Amino acid sequence: MMAESEPMPVRATKRGDERTPLDGERDVLICGASFAGLAIARELAGSGADVLIVDRYEIGERQTSACGIPTEWLRQLGLMDAERQRFDALVMHTPYGTARYRLPWTFSTFDYRELCQLLWRDCDAEFETAKVNGRAAPANGDGRIAIDTDRGTISAPLVVDALGWRRMLANGDGYQPPDAPLSRGLEVHPEGSGEDLELWIDRRYVPAGYGWSFPARDELRIGVGSFDPRFHVRQTTELLAEDLGSDRVRYQGNWIPHKLRRATEGGVFFAGDSAGHCLPLSAEGIRTALYFGIALGRELRGVVEGRQNRAEAESNYASFHDSHEWKFSWMLRAQKLVPRVPPRLLWPLIKLLGAKRFVNWSFAHYLAIAPPEFVDSADDQHRPDQQQDDAEDPLRRERDLVQAEQA
Ligand SMILES: Cc1cc2nc3c(=O)[nH]c(=O)nc-3n(C[C@H](O)[C@H](O)[C@H](O)COP(=O)(O)OP(=O)(O)OC[C@H]3O[C@@H](n4cnc5c(N)ncnc54)[C@H](O)[C@@H]3O)c2cc1C
Repeated sequence: MMAESEPMPVRATKRGDERTPLDGERDVLICGASFAGLAIARELAGSGADVLIVDRYEIGERQTSACGIPTEWLRQLGLMDAERQRFDALVMHTPYGTARYRLPWTFSTFDYRELCQLLWRDCDAEFETAKVNGRAAPANGDGRIAIDTDRGTISAPLVVDALGWRRMLANGDGYQPPDAPLSRGLEVHPEGSGEDLELWIDRRYVPAGYGWSFPARDELRIGVGSFDPRFHVRQTTELLAEDLGSDRVRYQGNWIPHKLRRATEGGVFFAGDSAGHCLPLSAEGIRTALYFGIALGRELRGVVEGRQNRAEAESNYASFHDSHEWKFSWMLRAQKLVPRVPPRLLWPLIKLLGAKRFVNWSFAHYLAIAPPEFVDSADDQHRPDQQQDDAEDPLRRERDLVQAEQA
């Protein structure tokens, strides 16, 4: 989706003679070095495992989003240096008026390159640029999985697909846009500044979806996301940028999954967009990629440290993933409902939902889908009694958060 008039970004990726063969065996192979892949590698640091992470680009070279995340996720991960701007309110524009929701927690924009490099700083894996082509013919039947790349075949008993929505290492389920449950997102990154995190729910820009402007200190990230993959967002992204008096430069876009897919398949583990971990309605997929990446990293660590085997890790990770299904389904229901509300009713509804108590409750509930304290929770999360507590009282965490906020 790169604009024709845009200069191509400078590639830091290895070329020509630097692309030496990579064939060989590893303990863990992580394909994809963005949010999910780096979070997994970070959890494996210090385990002593021989971990290789590959990506077609250098780490942080190619931004994959508007880079908005709850601030607390940055703080818990020690990534505050990557923060660019912080917001304590969300401004929502409709054709009938504008509402300002004061949030119970803050949201931040960050610098993609810096964040990836900070995550990488905490890893002790090896990184190589390589384009992953898919699964290669099985190795010797010793449980290793062979992956074909443009630099050779790499095999490992533990293989992760963190390659994004294409889910390259699956067996192929014919998941293709525009028929698959994928949203479409495109944004421009002009120079500029702003005070507010702004959203537009306006059919002028998109019949089902929303437009956004995320300021990041000296840059704006202005874009449009459509829940309907058949609606092309190029023209209306440009229209929104034009309406805001901003340049249409530095395009960035992709398909955004809005439905969970299987957590494991054919012995391969999936995390982030490859597992459909992006939240429907908000299209927020960074913190969930980090969250599920951390959960998967912990399971893989259990295998390399000899506390469990791969089958047990597969089963634990799949149960963890599946335990979130109902939350993703609710978000998807809301995503389907909002575009059906007639615009003249949407404005009073948005005003009504802006009541402080409701905003606090709903945003705390929303944050708890992938809570920041998970970063620090190491062993608790997988304790059966912990899962039992959460299952019995799914709103407990949200209530705690709101109470903490009110105190
Ligand atoms: C326009 C837009 C704006 C967005 N804004 C936000 C936002 O502000 N906040 C938010 O939470 N979410 C946002 N999202 C969603 C978010 O970008 C994704 O959910 C998130 O990036 C998923 O992380 P990931 O690590 O799973 O995959 P990605 O970040 O997509 O990373 C996949 C990695 O795999 C590599 N790769 C892909 N194919 C190959 C291959 N064949 N060989 C080797 N490497 C390969 C890529 O180079 C990339 O590094 C946005 C999405 C879009 C499209």
